[in-house]
Amino acid sequence: MRYISTRHGSQGNPAPLGFEDVMLAGLARDGGLYLPAEWPQFSTAEIAAMKGKPYVEVAYQVMRPFVGATFDEATFRRLIGEAYASFETPEVAPVRALGDSGLHLLELFHGPTLAFKDVALQLLGRMLDHTLTARGQHATIVGATSGDTGSAAIEAVRDRRTIDIFMLHPRGRVSEVQRRQMTTVLAPNVHNIAVDGTFDDCQDLAKACFNDLGFRDRHALTAVNSINFARVMAQIVYYFWAALKLGAPDRPVAFTVPTGNFGNVYAGYAAQRMGLPISHFVVATNSNDILARFFDGGDMTMAGVVPTYSPSMDIQISSNFERLLFDLYGRDGKALAEAMAAFRATGTLKVGANVLGEVRALFDAGRLDDAGTLAAIADCRRRYGETLDPHSAIGYAVAQQHRRDPGIPMVVLATAHPAKFPDAVQKATGERPALPPRLADLLDRTERVDGLRNDVEALKGLIDERMGALRQPRPARRPA
Ligand SMILES: *Cc1c(COP(=O)(O)O)cnc(C)c1O
Repeated sequence: MRYISTRHGSQGNPAPLGFEDVMLAGLARDGGLYLPAEWPQFSTAEIAAMKGKPYVEVAYQVMRPFVGATFDEATFRRLIGEAYASFETPEVAPVRALGDSGLHLLELFHGPTLAFKDVALQLLGRMLDHTLTARGQHATIVGATSGDTGSAAIEAVRDRRTIDIFMLHPRGRVSEVQRRQMTTVLAPNVHNIAVDGTFDDCQDLAKACFNDLGFRDRHALTAVNSINFARVMAQIVYYFWAALKLGAPDRPVAFTVPTGNFGNVYAGYAAQRMGLPISHFVVATNSNDILARFFDGGDMTMAGVVPTYSPSMDIQISSNFERLLFDLYGRDGKALAEAMAAFRATGTLKVGANVLGEVRALFDAGRLDDAGTLAAIADCRRRYGETLDPHSAIGYAVAQQHRRDPGIPMVVLATAHPAKFPDAVQKATGERPALPPRLADLLDRTERVDGLRNDVEALKGLIDERMGALRQPRPARRPA
């Protein structure tokens, strides 16, 4: 399988890359996002043959074409097995019916940090470590988080000798549970940094490190945010898994996806392109609704970000949306690069009526504000006895407005465990959800974190110093 950038052709014509390079690079050098030059195809018979197989087997079948010769069969099966053994249930992602409503929850939050990002990152951490070990190389992850990504990435690479991770979060602006899930990991290769600034400041700092190509090469910087194609790949699996449980390939299934950066729903789109019968997708957003506005009117216009009860969907621009736009621009990387540059400059991107009609055949979209979110949590609890987190609750409510055909099962992706967002859940239900046993002592664990002013030179200095120091024997560092 060969991979190209969504902006290929905009800066010369670099040769397509293999999976290993795409996984290590994250973002393409021309500023675009990698995707396969062609989608692997699964026939109806091949999909039917996966019915009843365990999650790890479906995972192996679905992902094998993407990795090509990067891992031999035994190695790839072992990495998949180890990644999903870290989940609380052998089902990995249970599918739960909500009464006989035709709605089903796909529970993606049984991993170590209680959010769906574990599904991809537990595998990506192991794939990276395996590849770096084989190459005798070391990589440095620099990332920014507003909450869930940071802890999932840290948990995925903790204690690996081949990787150091520097994770930036905005000081005082992530929830206590989210912060502690990061800062209580005391592994020597984990560096938590609390920045005096906003999430956008953190993201700008991380980006500035990548844009300094000398710095980027010196530390072999790697991004594990949702633009890394390896994450999309691992997320494709559970669309197959859920659809198989509900009758695919003999009958179609619909999916509603609580959406921020469009990574998760894009993985569903990929599954559909690969041959999985999906009738349509519902893109569910909170009040930060740039995507819902796009699907309504065909124009994507930036607006300020407002904080909500569903912080992992508080985004200004959906980075992965560029992958869908690539198809909408007829896979013309040069035209897309120009459109993205204009979008950066003007804050608006518009597509024509034909293109809009084409996407609306496959995508519906809806939004829900904070009051609606609390009402949805309470409603699901009352009707079905299930406690949803605020992100999943948005999916639950928006899904019901977009059942195109009541005969087609609608799967709502449940992206986080309710205990990750206890304040909102308590407000909605009057009860505070308990953390699962393996995290029950989280609030008593020791934290370690470095403070940093919002200054890129200070950040680079800190990384240089740590990585220089780490080449010598690691100094013992005292917990904060
Ligand atoms: C990251 C996240 C989302 C948004 O996922 P995208 O892939 O960015 O669309 C939704 N819910 C939760 C709980 C998340 O952590």
